Amino acid sequence: MNYKKINVNTALPSNPRARVMIIYTGGTLGMTHDENGVLIPFDFQHILNHLPTLKSLRLDVTVISFETPIDSSNIQPEHWQAIGQIIFDNYSEQDGFVVLHGTDTMAFTSSALSFMLRGLTKPVIFTGAQLPIVEPRSDARENLITALEIASDTLNGKPRVPEVCIYFDYELIRGCRAKKVESMHFDAFQSENYPVLAKAGVKIDYEVDAISTAATKPLELWSRFDTNVSLLKLFPGIRAETVQSILDTPGLKALVLETYGSGNAPNAEWFLEPLATAIKNGILVVNISQCPGGMVMQGKYETSKALSDIGVISGADMTTEAAVTKLMLLLGQFGADRAKELISQSLSGELTLT
Ligand code: ASP
Repeated sequence: MNYKKINVNTALPSNPRARVMIIYTGGTLGMTHDENGVLIPFDFQHILNHLPTLKSLRLDVTVISFETPIDSSNIQPEHWQAIGQIIFDNYSEQDGFVVLHGTDTMAFTSSALSFMLRGLTKPVIFTGAQLPIVEPRSDARENLITALEIASDTLNGKPRVPEVCIYFDYELIRGCRAKKVESMHFDAFQSENYPVLAKAGVKIDYEVDAISTAATKPLELWSRFDTNVSLLKLFPGIRAETVQSILDTPGLKALVLETYGSGNAPNAEWFLEPLATAIKNGILVVNISQCPGGMVMQGKYETSKALSDIGVISGADMTTEAAVTKLMLLLGQFGADRAKELISQSLSGELTLT
């Protein structure tokens, strides 16, 4: 993938307070209207023109921009690999990273990156906007400026947030706990099962106990993805043929099953039998609830005990975004046996162990 590198020393002429790299992938934040009024991604220079306040942050900012910025609906694992590689290659020279990304798939990318970057000691803060920066009422300026502040913030000389996070609408949330829940209002993201890591008001209040401690091992990058993963969301009336056709996907290695409530599903033969056969044939089936809050508790009801009995793995309180990206990465990096062991372990604080 090709990039453009842009150096923006916002601290001139005084000494910069910190070095932050912005990785610009695209998204609404930097979009502009084409001749038909349709929003299309635009280049980074145009963002800078709308951010005169950047200078007051006294940061040495380097921008790496995707050669062609994209709407995040076009994001693919290759883009996650590119973002991970840029962070890995520039890690020692930077104090923190801000990734500008469309909101539509931001929770998938932030989840993927939180699994890819092993042993993080520096902040990687995703942000974007619901309105382009060119709009007078845009949320882009606040989101970007505060993301840069968080990415460069230290306590006793150490980065305050050594995690992959999303900063959006005055809240900092863990990247692998995030979900996009709103497409009209500015509060686009939610972390239903884990506390907010910080709230930005007059000052930024960090929830110190909720933030991960920095790793002690050197940074490692896991970047091999296997996309032989599928997602099946249950609904009353779903047909046996639909279930079967997903399980018959050529090459399928893992299925995220989006179940009801605390992890319940029909306990009828037409549903359980094909699932049991798939599991016997080596397909990993992970149970994730359709409820954003709460967790899968297989065995609480008869309708989830049956899933345990046939070997469905509980995904606890993981989001679908975390489960899908974690499975793709574990399968690609380590293969099915190790993926089966690691899927129910907390790798980056994505699930609550009970
Ligand atoms: N479609 C846009 C994107 O995800 C939406 C946004 O940025 O908010 O790239």
